[in-house]
Amino acid sequence: TSFEELGLSVELLQGVYSMKFSKPSKVQAASLPLILAKDPRNLIAQAHNGSGKTACFVLGMLARIDPKRDLPQALCLVPTRELARQIRDVIMNLGKYTGCRVFLAVKQGDEERLQARLTAITDHIVVGTPGRVMDLLRHRVFNGRHVRILVLDEADEMIDTQGMGDQTLRIKKVLPPDVLTLLFSATYPDHVREFALRVVPHANQIVV
Ligand code: AMP
Repeated sequence: TSFEELGLSVELLQGVYSMKFSKPSKVQAASLPLILAKDPRNLIAQAHNGSGKTACFVLGMLARIDPKRDLPQALCLVPTRELARQIRDVIMNLGKYTGCRVFLAVKQGDEERLQARLTAITDHIVVGTPGRVMDLLRHRVFNGRHVRILVLDEADEMIDTQGMGDQTLRIKKVLPPDVLTLLFSATYPDHVREFALRVVPHANQIVV
């Protein structure tokens, strides 16, 4: 497979070229045709860091947003602020020709209060930790009704972090019931598998 065969928009192909990726990695070749399909199914993927998994779901999110609508249309939940920042950067790089904007939803220190931000998020993609995303939803700063794609990255780490599994389930409940859901995890011990099957029903599953 080549990136050209995947049906990416010209803007996204330009983003891929700007990263100097010459051909899809194994996980990209296996997952991108599923993620970019006209009528995609949910996906549960086992993939490690270094496999190129980030570009899989970043391209999936970028392909599903309409940059002309100033509403959050994609949500990516991750276990740490550092990871959220890294993913934000990948979105900005791969998406730099799309006009897509990203909102980083992480707690930024004690002095920063939610009250400082009462206007609704109009960025197309929200990337953050479950706790902060819950706060934003609760304060109606983040309207989840237009979210079309939900990504859970490093799901094993999230589930093993106190409270994040429950928060993720609660967040999923306020999104449209037909939201496309992609879950990535490096490991699948039984409790992660059970969680994955619960949050991501009727999924294609790939192991790389
Ligand atoms: P990840 O597993 O998503 O953390 O990606 C690991 C590294 O591989 C990152 O530095 C990416 O920029 C790089 N990468 C992702 N996809 C490709 C590709 N198709 N060709 C070359 N490098 C890639």
